[in-house]
Amino acid sequence: MEINDAKIRTVIRIRPFLPSEDVERCLNVLKDSTSGGKATHLQVFDRVTFQTNTSRFDGCYDEDNTQMDLFSAEIQPSLSHCFNGINFTVFAYGMTGSGKTFTMQGPPNNPGIIPLLVQDLFRQAKTHGLGSKKVTIELGFVEIYTEKIRDLLNPASIDLQLREDIDKTIFVAGLTWKPLNTSSDFTKEYAQGCQNRTVAATRLNAESSRSHAVVMLRVKKTDGNKLLTSKVNLIDLAGSEDNRKTGNTGMRMTESSAINRSLMTLGRVIQAINTNDTRPPYRESKLTRLLQDSLSGGGQSVVIGCLSPSPKFLSDSCKTIEFTRSTG
Ligand code: ADP
Ligand code: MG
Repeated sequence: MEINDAKIRTVIRIRPFLPSEDVERCLNVLKDSTSGGKATHLQVFDRVTFQTNTSRFDGCYDEDNTQMDLFSAEIQPSLSHCFNGINFTVFAYGMTGSGKTFTMQGPPNNPGIIPLLVQDLFRQAKTHGLGSKKVTIELGFVEIYTEKIRDLLNPASIDLQLREDIDKTIFVAGLTWKPLNTSSDFTKEYAQGCQNRTVAATRLNAESSRSHAVVMLRVKKTDGNKLLTSKVNLIDLAGSEDNRKTGNTGMRMTESSAINRSLMTLGRVIQAINTNDTRPPYRESKLTRLLQDSLSGGGQSVVIGCLSPSPKFLSDSCKTIEFTRSTG
């Protein structure tokens, strides 16, 4: 992989069957399609039409793969570049229940991308002089709900604005950045942010699956008289299921249209980047505007399309495959 490769990489992950699910499967990773030791082809079987379709990705994972398999192949190789001022963004996309939170966060006994990355980031930061103040790491943690940015590290800030600096960088005005000295500082602040997220959702009678959660790690490194800054963005996206089915009205309708709009804009931005279009529509959603600097200008990004193996969810799975595939 080239550092200046502007393409956004695409990965899919099929979660195991849940105890409640019928074990007939409609999605399979083709293990004989390995390229460099990695499976890259996904086969979809539609039991209604008896059609089989195969799609290609940068990496395909299923229940035979561990959190560490995914992390070491798709995430870790990009991480070291953040000490050279190169941004890195990871998205988990998929319907509610497809495994986004499992993939990004994971249960305490089976950590996902966020804890694994943070641990590795601090390990690498030490070798770059973390203790000696040559390197600093700060945490920002926001939620985007109905196109409003909420500061999860300062629950009083519920509608933060995006601004553009003189040098054209985009920033969230008034956002809290907590300095982190160790990975346990992260664990503490992150847990507090998650707690604030739950409290806010309860108050609004909403669910966390209806908002995007964005963890941002800002890494600054002093190299002689040069300051290199980069951001690592880790995003658990709102559920991509088709909300029109449930006959939404009122607040649920507002939520649904905000989610649809931001996910659709994200898809268009990614597609524009991957086809070298010079004008991705960043401004059309808060999420893409927030990530504009990271997605443009040679940053590295990975989209992980999360999938259930069950035919019951085939239509949502096909949308995730289409979204993810169209980006690669
Ligand atoms: P989402 O965040 O997309 O709504 P979750 O991450 O909460 O979905 O996953 C839904 C359920 O499936 C949870 O019970 C979770 O523990 C389980 N699950 C998801 N992915 C995996 C996996 N790779 N291995 C084991 N269990 C998983
Ligand atoms: Mg979730």
